[in-house]
Amino acid sequence: MAEKKKKKYVAADSEVSTTTQKRKEAKPVGNAGPLRVWAIVLWVLAFALEICALMVYLGKLDLQFMPQIWQLICFLVLDLICVIIGSQLWKKANHIDPISEKNKTKFWLWNNMGVIVASVAFVPFAILALTDKNADKKTKTIATVAAVICLMIGGVASYDFNPVSSEQLQAAQNTLGGKTVYWTTFGKVYHTHDDCSHLNRTETLTYGTVEQAIANNRVRLCKTCAKQDGVSGVATEE
Ligand SMILES: [Zn+2]
Repeated sequence: MAEKKKKKYVAADSEVSTTTQKRKEAKPVGNAGPLRVWAIVLWVLAFALEICALMVYLGKLDLQFMPQIWQLICFLVLDLICVIIGSQLWKKANHIDPISEKNKTKFWLWNNMGVIVASVAFVPFAILALTDKNADKKTKTIATVAAVICLMIGGVASYDFNPVSSEQLQAAQNTLGGKTVYWTTFGKVYHTHDDCSHLNRTETLTYGTVEQAIANNRVRLCKTCAKQDGVSGVATEE
């Protein structure tokens, strides 16, 4: 079995040449459906929490046990947590069950639904806080700044920096279907060779199918491995 094979190291080049590399099997890919349902539930909860924050701001909701400004911040932070977790589930679902990239706009909107949700979850509150004439200046400033910071964190965390299309997944499956691939804890690509030179310094190597690699956000094949295999048609990266 490939995963039992001991790696050969170049002693001068490797920090882990005397230790045995750890191997870990990737978790099953899972289903996209439940992930999408949970994402939507969390996003709806995020909107509800934004409404709570709005009501606190307008004086229609008061939890009594802490000052108004802390209530506002608490609701906004909970709102942010729901947006971020929902978006991670959504992105994961898209890596398991991607859509076609033929329609670029639809592809972008679908993959970055979390970014749209983040805007809806904070922009209305920020606008209200910014344009409100009744609140005192300090509350107004803190509320606006908090909402803008949440919007930025939520937006970046929800953006899919490595989107996958159904065409890309299909191409990877056609080329590498059934083959074992490898990736590292912080690496951005997957490898077809466990003795690839880029894996020399790796202490923990995860292995699985190409579907598992893509579900784990490694959407491109290592360029060195691709060259060695002579494959083309699969997205690669250095
Ligand atoms: Zn490689």
